[in-house]
Amino acid sequence: MKTIAYSNPFVPPEWIAAHSLRPRRLRPPAAGGDAAVEAIRGLCPFVRAFLAAVRRDADIAAVVMTTTCDQMRHAATLATRDAVRPVFLLNVPATWQTPTARALYLDELERLGRFLVELGGSRPSPARLADAMLQHEQSRRCEADDSANNVDNNGDGIPLALIGGPLLEDDEPIFDLIHQAGGYVALDGTEGGPRTLPASFDREQLESEPLAELARAYFDAIVDPFRRPNDGFYRWLARELPRRQVRGVVLWRYVWCDLWHAEAHRMKQTCSVPLLDLDTCRDDDGSLQRAAGRIEAFLEMLQ
Ligand code: SF4
Repeated sequence: MKTIAYSNPFVPPEWIAAHSLRPRRLRPPAAGGDAAVEAIRGLCPFVRAFLAAVRRDADIAAVVMTTTCDQMRHAATLATRDAVRPVFLLNVPATWQTPTARALYLDELERLGRFLVELGGSRPSPARLADAMLQHEQSRRCEADDSANNVDNNGDGIPLALIGGPLLEDDEPIFDLIHQAGGYVALDGTEGGPRTLPASFDREQLESEPLAELARAYFDAIVDPFRRPNDGFYRWLARELPRRQVRGVVLWRYVWCDLWHAEAHRMKQTCSVPLLDLDTCRDDDGSLQRAAGRIEAFLEMLQ
């Protein structure tokens, strides 16, 4: 079975699986070692790592990227030019409040379906798609239960929210560093966490029009600062911070990421608790340690 790599939460893995292909969400390690990728200036560490992983991993048959930020868009152009793997660029409309925007996203999913068929996937029947949707919903539920249990297990210290874009595989120690400094992540607002999950599927719609229901669940529900307007992101923060009794927010952002940089000021103004704007370049091994030092000072201030 061919593997299709993707990185963004707006790519529904059940749509790929329904085509009898294997979806794989990439959370790559830093791009170190790929001289061609490292030579590209101005890309955020995640985009560089994503490009390097796609070039390196021979199991990946094709890659789906999205238009959700300029850097990813630029990376899609580079990957297409590189021609190591076929690339599909999914156009996710930034505006979301009109039925036209959702219809555009649905059209894009259909276009993605044609790309998957060209790669050797089989066009799914509505029943097969509905089946894949139910299976993925079930595994999301199990993962959510697991991570809720983990939060409970680590739930001593000062509750923090970790908010930001996608984490690299090498960023994983950040959770332990927070714990060692006397806090814990009560709310994971990074990409891939609860903030970027689709809504539950409506059972009636799933049976009658599964693809339209898939588009609704993803397009209407995912909370992301790239959306215009992005008030939904701030409503989500205003709801979730008190619900998890969060006492401080760590904004984890890469220095080249314009999207999260642009939100830092507004987040500081609107969050009900103090915010640590943690810009990281991930260019060397010391960057996590520097982050740890700043987190420690932040937690001391919150004592
Ligand atoms: S971290 Fe920022 S620049 Fe990098 S992929 Fe995400 S939104 Fe784009």
